[in-house]
Amino acid sequence: MKKREQPSDPQAQNALRRLETQFDLTVQELRGLSDGPDPLDRFAAFGATIDLLERLREWQRDAGPSLVTPTVLGVEATQSIQFFRPAVNIVASGGRSGQQPENDLPLVARKATVLRAYIANFAGVSGALEWRAVGSAAWSGPLPALNAPFNPPVDPIAGRGSSLASLNFRLPATACVGDLEVRLSFDGTAQPQHSRVLWDLFGHSHVQSGIPQLWTTSTVFTLHFQAVNPLGIRLVRMRYEGRGLRLPAPSLADFWRTATMLRRMYPLSEICLWAESERLYDGDFSDITPGAAHAPGTPNGGSTGDWLHILNNLVALENPPSCVAYVMLYPPGAHNPASGFIGWGVGITSLVPTDNQSALAHEIGHVLGRAHAPCGNPAAPDAGYPNYGSYPRASIGEFGVDIETMDVHNPATVSDFMSYCSPVWISPYTYEGLLNRLKTCPGLTLCVNSTPVRRHPRIERAASQREYLVLTIQIYRNGWVRLVPPAFHLPAEPRTDWGRETEYFVELRDEGGFPLSARRLWLQDAHVTADDAVTSYLVCLPWQEAASELLILRGDTILERFSIEPMPPRVSGLLWTGEKAKGRGTLSWKSDLADARFAVRYSPDGGARWFAVAIWLERPSCAIDLDALPGGEAAHLEVVASAGFRTTRVRVQLGAVPRKPRVAEIVWPTRSLLVRRGQTVRLMGQVASVDGEALVDTMQWETGRDGPLGTGRELLLHTLSAGRHLITLTTDDGLGRLTRATRRIDVRD
Ligand SMILES: [Zn+2]
Repeated sequence: MKKREQPSDPQAQNALRRLETQFDLTVQELRGLSDGPDPLDRFAAFGATIDLLERLREWQRDAGPSLVTPTVLGVEATQSIQFFRPAVNIVASGGRSGQQPENDLPLVARKATVLRAYIANFAGVSGALEWRAVGSAAWSGPLPALNAPFNPPVDPIAGRGSSLASLNFRLPATACVGDLEVRLSFDGTAQPQHSRVLWDLFGHSHVQSGIPQLWTTSTVFTLHFQAVNPLGIRLVRMRYEGRGLRLPAPSLADFWRTATMLRRMYPLSEICLWAESERLYDGDFSDITPGAAHAPGTPNGGSTGDWLHILNNLVALENPPSCVAYVMLYPPGAHNPASGFIGWGVGITSLVPTDNQSALAHEIGHVLGRAHAPCGNPAAPDAGYPNYGSYPRASIGEFGVDIETMDVHNPATVSDFMSYCSPVWISPYTYEGLLNRLKTCPGLTLCVNSTPVRRHPRIERAASQREYLVLTIQIYRNGWVRLVPPAFHLPAEPRTDWGRETEYFVELRDEGGFPLSARRLWLQDAHVTADDAVTSYLVCLPWQEAASELLILRGDTILERFSIEPMPPRVSGLLWTGEKAKGRGTLSWKSDLADARFAVRYSPDGGARWFAVAIWLERPSCAIDLDALPGGEAAHLEVVASAGFRTTRVRVQLGAVPRKPRVAEIVWPTRSLLVRRGQTVRLMGQVASVDGEALVDTMQWETGRDGPLGTGRELLLHTLSAGRHLITLTTDDGLGRLTRATRRIDVRD
């Protein structure tokens, strides 16, 4: 054994002497025991070894308390909700249960991400965030923390319910792509401690370095961002005329403002407007339930039909790509005070008032297949909604973070937005459900309207595209069936059934009673169950020319039969008055059937896309403003006519309709703004014309003071320098020029 060195500290010398005595005794004992043939002796040797280790721990205690080192306990990466210590314990009837791994909820590409660093034994901490794509050499420029200098609480993770418990950073949306290496650097003040000498069992000395007052540390980790297709929305801005009111339609800016909460909560990088237009509704707006009788000519239907009549007809005429959600935004003043509704979501259609941000998130949730979370006594609550530990039912289950405001949403008091309770945020359950839906949905890979003009417009869709009879049907419990005639059959893409399977069917039969095509009805309304008095369906039934009868069945029992007229209306004398392909004009025609109803649709590109112009006409003419429709090289108008089911379509060619320049608009802030330095500023813009939106990557933001700020629909900035900024949003107008919008922001120190 090597000669032991002696510590200088008398207290440590004492401890070492006691240890040496103990050590020598134990080693002698061990020699005797471990060499012996008796297994019991050898077992005793193990006991003695453990005893020796106990002594060693005692020696460590004698040497004084361990040094208090500044530590990064962990980093939470969140875009709206995240599992983090202490992980919630989930009891779910299906799917996840038990404790969840930290940072286990996936992150979505191109969505800004907040990093919450939990730090201990440190004061006055500042920090910087850098990033680089995995495999690339250069780090980004450093971005300062959101809330420096920062003094962590004694137990930072227990204080997770406040954004002040962590040093917070925000990765810009454009950085959040693929595999990203992230470096967080910290500097601050530690409790200063001197270095000291520790002695091990063999008397070897070790120097444990002390803690300097100025302490720096850094941590490097990798984040993975999943690409998710944008959510496609067909926006319908409702102009309201009824009950003596004339209310203008909400604007595009109104829509984007209303979508703020949805954009913050959803696992979603972008919303794309597949199309948008204004549309009149002139009923008394007393009822929005899909089951009631709201056809044109009723008080609630007005001359236009109710919201669902309007939207279902738009769906039939426009044949949107799958996963595009129809959203009708209405001016809040249109709401009839005699009724208690706010919004509705059924099938792929929804109705929402302007500026009700949680209602938009809720109804789009229904359109994406989410049922109600069980709080506030909603219809048909989701039986699979998990219990999160001891939190109330429909709790969000974890701490949610608003990445703009850094408001932290507490699972003890905040409910999932799919419930009827408030306040609301998103739960891991709804987050994962929406993410799976958005990932499996083919959706839009690109905002369709932003695609370049087709040089060789497709004149007709693929020959494989067949016609579907589009039906809006209501079925009452007693077997009554309501069907809003006339219906149209039109070429369309086949759609996947989803929702809850019912026992109802629609069927086309020929003259001999032979079934030609059939479709089961799926309940796609989270607000009703199959047991309710009335249920409503939008169904696309493959059309057959030989059909002579339409049947609605419950199982094998026929509930209602509608005979199909032998001939469709004959439409002739189609006439477009007005300039060939510009401005306002009138389309007129003749029909041989007096009870025929008509719709008019427009295609800018030879039939590749269709936009409904008129959904319900009783007379054979229609005023059309081509300046309010997308431009294109091969524009067509088409009259769709039916007196029951059998449909005629007649086209008139317009040639080239001019495209309209896109106009940039700053949606947020809505006016000049005064902020403190370091405060987060939201910049949000939109650049659109009736032809569609600009690609978000081309939307450039800058300020004369600080230079370029970034690209995208929305930026969250906390680094504007003190002084007066003229913020400019610039992009191309789609016709070779630039379009610009500006806003003044004053930043005070
Ligand atoms: Zn609902």
